[in-house]
Amino acid sequence: MQEEQQEPTPLNNLGEFGLIEKLTSKVKLRNSSSILGAGDDAAIIKGGKKLKLISTDMLVEGVHFDLLYTPLKHLGYKAAVVNFSDIYAMNGNPKQITVSIAVSNRMSVEALEEIYEGINLACELYQVDLVGGDTTSSLSGLVLSLSVIGEADETKIARRDGAKENDLICVSGDLGAAYAGLQILEREKAVFQENEKVQPDLSGKDYVLERQLKPEARKEIIEFFKKEGIVPSSMIDISDGLSSELIHLAKASNIGVQIYEEKIPIDPSTVSTMEEFKIDATLAALNGGEDYELLFTLPLDYHEQIKNAPGISIIGHVTDKAAGNFMVGKGSEQMIPLKAQGWESHKADT
Ligand code: ADP
Ligand code: MG
Repeated sequence: MQEEQQEPTPLNNLGEFGLIEKLTSKVKLRNSSSILGAGDDAAIIKGGKKLKLISTDMLVEGVHFDLLYTPLKHLGYKAAVVNFSDIYAMNGNPKQITVSIAVSNRMSVEALEEIYEGINLACELYQVDLVGGDTTSSLSGLVLSLSVIGEADETKIARRDGAKENDLICVSGDLGAAYAGLQILEREKAVFQENEKVQPDLSGKDYVLERQLKPEARKEIIEFFKKEGIVPSSMIDISDGLSSELIHLAKASNIGVQIYEEKIPIDPSTVSTMEEFKIDATLAALNGGEDYELLFTLPLDYHEQIKNAPGISIIGHVTDKAAGNFMVGKGSEQMIPLKAQGWESHKADT
């Protein structure tokens, strides 16, 4: 049965204020620190005893996302979640966000409402309040800029610069899946552009696609730390790939890192997807990015407490800065230098 398609509402039907009102009409405030949300010249947030954490991220159409294969609701959800991830990476909890959008007139009111549906869903699941933003027009593509405000106990904050020699290096979840998902989407986009009648072949790819299009932030790892009384000596979220984040920690903490390829957690569906593209799954984990898992270091004393923790893998240890940053290869025991983008195999006799 053919459903009747409603005409999309042009943005200028509503005007800026009508649009803001429509977009923020479903917003609920959940945190006691959110005194006043959208609607006035500024939001009001209560200070309290904890330290405030602030982070901003901008997403630009054509640079960070492709509207050809990104559902708008997922885009809103992901934009919010990647901001929350930055606060968890400090061992804090996100509390408020502001959302600024620059949008071309080609976009409809309904399209923007879909983006906000995703943002609102993320806010509900992560207990964050949308307290304001800005709305303007764009002559090119869609731009989304989100700022997040979080809080943490002064004694619990995990920065990038606290890793010490002999600390354990750990990651949450598994790596490389978001990159594998992106490869599938790009492949199907190319097929579609050749022939618009071909249906995309996405069967069996649910996990890697979801990791790319609708990632989650690792709230439960922060809850685990709290429950177990664990404070990581350093932490960062994996947005650009394990290799580059390890190098960030090493630089900030003035240390070296040694990880083991066989310990890097990679989902079987990532491995099989990367096989289709003839790319080593380890490369996807090291350089792929957008996993939004947490990479952290812990003093050795925590070994017993952490070794069987679900969803956490110990992948290596912190070394002296002079030892450099290396991955011990699977089977071969080869020492492979980690690079910010890409890694080079140690070519012995060349
Ligand atoms: P101003 O002229 O002070 O910049 P605006 O008209 O831009 O005010 O915004 C009015 C109110 O609506 C403010 O509280 C602002 O935070 C909120 N707001 C504007 N755009 C958005 C948006 N896209 N999402 C959420 N809140 C918004
Ligand atoms: Mg404004």
